[in-house]
Amino acid sequence: MIRKLIGKVLRRPGKQVLHAKHYGIRRELLHSNALKVCDRLQDAGFDAYVVGGAVRDLLLGKNPKDYDVATSATPEQVRHVFHRSRIIGRRFRIVHVPFYDRDGEEIIEVTTFRGASDAPTDDAGRILRDNVYGSIEEDAARRDFTANALYYDPNREEIIDFHHGVADIEAKRLVMIGDPMQRYREDPVRMLRAVRLASKLGLAIAPATKKPMAELADLLENIPSARIFDEMMKLLLSGRAWVCITALRDEKLHKHVLPLLDKLLSRPESSAFLQKALENTDARLAEDKPVSAGFLFAALLWQEVEFRWKKNEAAGEHPMPALVSAMNDVEARVERKLAIPNRYSAAMKEIWLMQPRFEQRTGSRPSRLLEQARFRAAYDFLVLRAECGLADKELAEWWTQFQYCDEPTRSAMIARVANPAKSDAKKRRKPQRRKPAAAKVGGDAGGNGGAADKP
Ligand code: ATP
Ligand code: MG
Repeated sequence: MIRKLIGKVLRRPGKQVLHAKHYGIRRELLHSNALKVCDRLQDAGFDAYVVGGAVRDLLLGKNPKDYDVATSATPEQVRHVFHRSRIIGRRFRIVHVPFYDRDGEEIIEVTTFRGASDAPTDDAGRILRDNVYGSIEEDAARRDFTANALYYDPNREEIIDFHHGVADIEAKRLVMIGDPMQRYREDPVRMLRAVRLASKLGLAIAPATKKPMAELADLLENIPSARIFDEMMKLLLSGRAWVCITALRDEKLHKHVLPLLDKLLSRPESSAFLQKALENTDARLAEDKPVSAGFLFAALLWQEVEFRWKKNEAAGEHPMPALVSAMNDVEARVERKLAIPNRYSAAMKEIWLMQPRFEQRTGSRPSRLLEQARFRAAYDFLVLRAECGLADKELAEWWTQFQYCDEPTRSAMIARVANPAKSDAKKRRKPQRRKPAAAKVGGDAGGNGGAADKP
C-alpha cells in the first residue's frame, strides 16, 4: 500500500530536462530533414521538437521509420515557413512538410501543441475534433503513452520528459498517460496502438494500461473502417506482424478488426500458413525489401476464401464462378470492419484468381499465365501454400522450373503433363504384375492418375 503510494508520488507528472547524449541520442543520428524542420521553425521564433516515435525508437537503439515534429507554431504559421507544405486532416489538423531526394518524397509531419481544453466528444466519450492549441505540457498530456511523449530539441540536445517516459522505456514498459479507461474511451484505436507498439518494440504493456482493454474492446466498433484499415496496415508492416496478430487475439481486440482470426489461429495448418506468410513479410522488411499489401491480405483471407470456394464447388458450381462468389462473400464480410482500398483488394483478388490457373498446364495457358503482371506475387503465393501443405508441392516445383527454362524445355514440360511418361511406363509394367485378375480390373477402371485427381 505504502509502496503503491510512494510509486504514485514519484510518478507524478513534472517536467524533467535530460541530456540527450547521456541516453545515446546525438543530433547526427536524426534525419537531416527532421533537423531542418526544427531549425527553421526555431529560427522563425517558434519552439520545435522532434517528438513521438522517433525519440522513443532512438532511445531503444532503433532506426526511426518516420519523424514527427511538435511546435508552438499554428498550422498556418508552419505553412508560412515551408511554402511547399500542406495542411491535412480535419479531426486533427497537421502539416505535411515534403522533402524530395533520390528515394522520392519524404514527409515530416508537423503538429501544433494541443491544448488541454475539453475537446468535443460523442456519447461514448470519443474525441471528435482536437484542434485547440496549447502549451508543450498540455500537448504531452494529450499523447497516448509515456514513451511517446518525449520532446527532443536538436539544438540544445535535450529531451523534455513530462511523464517518466525515459524511465518507462528503460524498464521496457508501455504506460498510458492519465486514466487508461478514459483515454481509451476518447480514442479506442489507442488499444490497437498499445498492442502494436508493445509487440513491435518488445515492451510489456503495464497492467493498468492493459486492464480496461477487455471491457472496452467493443468501442472499436464505432471506429470508421478506413481508420481500422490504416492501423491494421501499420500492424502488418511493423516488422513483427505475426507477434502483433497473435497479441491482438490474446487481448481479444481482433473481434472488431478481423474476427476471422479465431478460426484461422485455432487450426494448426491454417495458423502455420499465416505465420509463415507474416514471418516472410517481417524478414523482407528487415532486409529492406518491398512488401505487397495485396499479398498480405491475400494470405490473411485466403483460407476463408478457399473454404467457401470448395463448399460452392461441392454444391455443384463450376470452379471459377465458385471461386469468384467465395471471394466476393469474404470481401463483403471483411469490409464491414476493415475497408481494404481498391488498389490493394484488386491485387489480392488477382492473386487468388490465379491460383486455380496454375493447375491448367495445357497448350499455351502456362505461357500466358507467365505474362500476367501479377504472376510473381501469385507464384510466391502458390509456393507459400505448397510449403504449408495447402497446395501440391510438385505443382509449385513445376512452376519454379517452368518460368526459368528455355522454350523447348517448356514445351517438353507441357507435353509431359498432357501425356505423362509415367502412364506409359505403367502400361508397360502391367503385364509383369503377378496379381489376380480382380486387382487388374480395379487398376484399369480407376487408374492412379484418376485417384490423384480427386479432391
Ligand atoms: P510509429 O513508429 O508507428 O510511427 P508513432 O508513435 O510515431 O509510431 P504516429 O502515428 O506516427 O505513431 O504518431 C506520432 C505521435 O503522435 C505518437 O508518438 C503519439 O505521441 C501521438 N499519437 C498518435 N496517435 C495518437 C492517439 N491515437 N492518441 C494520442 N496520441 C497519439
Ligand atoms: Mg511516427
